[in-house]
Amino acid sequence: MRTITLNEFDIFHGPLILVNKDYPIQNKNNLNLVPYSPEYKEVQLEAKTSSMLWKLLESINCNNEIIPVSGYRSKEEQEEIFENSLLENGVEFTHKYVAFPDQSEHQTGLAIDLGENSDSIDFIRPKFPYTGICGEFRSKAAQYGFIERYSKGKETMTGIAHEPWHFRYVGYPHSYIIEYNGLSLEEYIQFIKAYPYEGEPLSIKSKGTEVKVFFVESKTDKTVIELSNNDLYQISGNNVDGFIVTVWRQCS
Ligand SMILES: [Zn+2]
Repeated sequence: MRTITLNEFDIFHGPLILVNKDYPIQNKNNLNLVPYSPEYKEVQLEAKTSSMLWKLLESINCNNEIIPVSGYRSKEEQEEIFENSLLENGVEFTHKYVAFPDQSEHQTGLAIDLGENSDSIDFIRPKFPYTGICGEFRSKAAQYGFIERYSKGKETMTGIAHEPWHFRYVGYPHSYIIEYNGLSLEEYIQFIKAYPYEGEPLSIKSKGTEVKVFFVESKTDKTVIELSNNDLYQISGNNVDGFIVTVWRQCS
């Protein structure tokens, strides 16, 4: 067995952090950002998010038919977008579509607004339909770890209007579990607590690998978990109260 010790600040890091009006972003440093492409170098994403997005785009043979509209934003950029939208679009629109500074997923580097390539692209509400190449993107998004973050019907939970263009990297199999069960990220953070470290994990078998997912509540000082030596694992904070642990094991 190996022992893993986590501190209370570790809950603010990882691909499963929930960022919304109740849980503002806490981790503003240590982001490993990379440019989306030489052509769109002003659009930056967290490195793993970027590499998985490219794999997804390549899997659908997307040749510039989908373009990046907005990726990582600093707090200052989010403030500017919010202020400009207030002036241009008014209070009601802005509160529906633009998050307050520190409550925006764009500050994590894990979120991207995508648009169908056309002559005029709306920066706040780019067109990203459910058909054509954008539909193909959606049908494969979960396989590569992405979810449509602000879905229709989840507005009261997310606090944000339906945004067909905003995708969030959470990683596989979480994206798959979220999509399969029709959950918002807010709901998934609760859902996974039914599978605590001390109890039975959520278990999925895929392509000869068994994936187990469980929740570990953060203790006030240090949180200690024990994992088998041979297992591949990933630990992400939830930015709320604990950790989501994913363990991959080869099936014999
Ligand atoms: Zn967005």
